[in-house]
Amino acid sequence: MFVDIAKIHLKAGKGGDGAVSFHREKYVAAGGPDGGDGGKGGDIIFKADSNLSTLADFRYKRKYAAEAGQNGGASRCTGKSAQPLIISVPVGTLVKEAETGRIIADISDDEPVVIAKGGNGGWGNQHFATSTRQVPRFAKSGNPGEELDITLELKLLADVGLIGFPNVGKSTLVSVVSEAKPKIANYHFTTLTPVLGVVRMGEGSSFVMADIPGLIEGAGEGVGLGHEFLRHVERCRMLIHVLDISGSEGRDPIEDFEKINRELEVFSSELSKRPQIVVGNKCDLTDEDEVKRIADHFEALGYKFFPVMAAIAEGTGELINYVAAYLDTLPPILKYEAEPKPEIEIKSNNRDFTVRVENGIFYVENCDWMMDVMNRVDPDDYESLQYFERVLRQSGIIEALEKNGVTEGDTVNVLDIEFDYVP
Ligand code: GDP
Ligand code: MG
Repeated sequence: MFVDIAKIHLKAGKGGDGAVSFHREKYVAAGGPDGGDGGKGGDIIFKADSNLSTLADFRYKRKYAAEAGQNGGASRCTGKSAQPLIISVPVGTLVKEAETGRIIADISDDEPVVIAKGGNGGWGNQHFATSTRQVPRFAKSGNPGEELDITLELKLLADVGLIGFPNVGKSTLVSVVSEAKPKIANYHFTTLTPVLGVVRMGEGSSFVMADIPGLIEGAGEGVGLGHEFLRHVERCRMLIHVLDISGSEGRDPIEDFEKINRELEVFSSELSKRPQIVVGNKCDLTDEDEVKRIADHFEALGYKFFPVMAAIAEGTGELINYVAAYLDTLPPILKYEAEPKPEIEIKSNNRDFTVRVENGIFYVENCDWMMDVMNRVDPDDYESLQYFERVLRQSGIIEALEKNGVTEGDTVNVLDIEFDYVP
């Protein structure tokens, strides 16, 4: 069964806890603190796999969790970081935040992407030895890994998308110009899953054509089959609109064309503006005058028109030559940009804190709300540190430190995490 949308839950690994431990040696009465840091929790990473073509696996398994980092040990022993959990998806899978629909990543090339970050390991008590606190009895616990619900949405990667009513000959066309062998039959909705065909033009040049199930009236509003498949032509660089110009099923091909384009418009006005050419199929079932009438109609509207008999591959050579040359003038396949994450909101409205100076160290205290922020700040990550600085500024902490005479290079201690003040 073809599945091209799925919702799953991710939970990255928790960071290992920092250790509380003291150096012990014969004849050494009280050694210093030597508790090691916890290891980093496992990330959850998504990777494209060209052997996959559906999201079917995600129907059965919906929860994914990476392992926790190991706790720190004595003798400054850092806990082992957990291995990432790697999830393979078909090429062209969009990862979205389930709640907001925000695009987190477009898994459409070889680049693996971290979707849920493992928590950082907590600091062991080795870090908390200061001149004033020689016997630190605490360590930080590891941070939780990121946890989120995501939707996966497959949007095939193809240069050319075929659109048209059922039974007009789309699958037949793909089968004669590429190695793909979609099911062809004389009844509606033979094609139930999109099929990609590679059209080889010689000398290593090729393009990819997507055959999607036929659209029907109302498909754009989600009535019946069609709507859900339109997403597979959204990335296409151009569309080939296939018509049965013989009207062998009693419909008028020009009306068909207008109806399908209305469906496209409803689904996405951007998609309806994508370059489109028209293929008049089943020329064998009509006469030359009719072919000419229809060709004139579309050419007058500014569309390139190709009369073909897909079943016997008549006219299809000219068609694909034109398409290959036209593609050279078009921008590459659409790739979706990740949308930025909104800033972490601090849950509590209370932004109280106090500043105390002792032995040249500036202690920022009584600010439990900062715990939330400190837990998420990753000292190895530039953006994360910038965020931290913004919080310090917006909450008035920087201003208060300056009032107390802090200068460059002074030690600031916020909830027992120490750093140098840099104005
Ligand atoms: P799709 O639903 O648009 O994918 O259409 P298919 O490719 O499955 O074709 C529908 C029917 O039209 C099949 O019975 C094909 O054999 C037939 N067909 C396709 N191309 C031609 C053609 O050029 N001439 C004629 N007479 N029949 C064709
Ligand atoms: Mg078909």
